Amino acid sequence: MKRGEHQPQTGPRPPDRERLRAELVQFMDRRGLRSTEQRRVIIEQLFGVTDHVTIDQLLESVRAVDPRVGYATVYRTMKLLAEGGLVHERKFGDGFTRYELADAHAHHDHLICLDCGKITEFEEPAIEELQDGIALRHGFLVRDHKHELYGTCAECAKQSDVKPGRVKTAHR
Ligand SMILES: [Zn+2]
Ligand SMILES: [Zn+2]
Ligand SMILES: [Zn+2]
Repeated sequence: MKRGEHQPQTGPRPPDRERLRAELVQFMDRRGLRSTEQRRVIIEQLFGVTDHVTIDQLLESVRAVDPRVGYATVYRTMKLLAEGGLVHERKFGDGFTRYELADAHAHHDHLICLDCGKITEFEEPAIEELQDGIALRHGFLVRDHKHELYGTCAECAKQSDVKPGRVKTAHR
């Protein structure tokens, strides 16, 4: 198989939304947070939208339900959930912070297309095992990690005659 032809065999497992929802409620209780109506709408929308959502995107779908919700409320809620480990904050180098539901039981990493911005998730047990071995050799306890591959997605490659797997030297 040529380099770059490898596609993940299966997509990552989707997060177990019901369990995450229960964890979220527990987190709110522990922190003594009364789940205000606005916060409830934000969380409902977070569970409804696709992954890797920006504050602005989330705000838009929240406002479709309740136009009174402000940017700061969404921002604070997401910071809080990130702090509690319930969502992951992702920065893919374009200046936006994106959020996705965190699920310790369904880890995945990302391929990021620099041309169209498409974010593809992958799960590769071989990589996970390799890095466990590295950590072990260094007596290192891994709490978190991320793999982010930046380049050109298959769609964009098709349109611009870029061969998958090769380094693209110039960006449009
Ligand atoms: Zn990983
Ligand atoms: Zn692309
Ligand atoms: Zn993701």
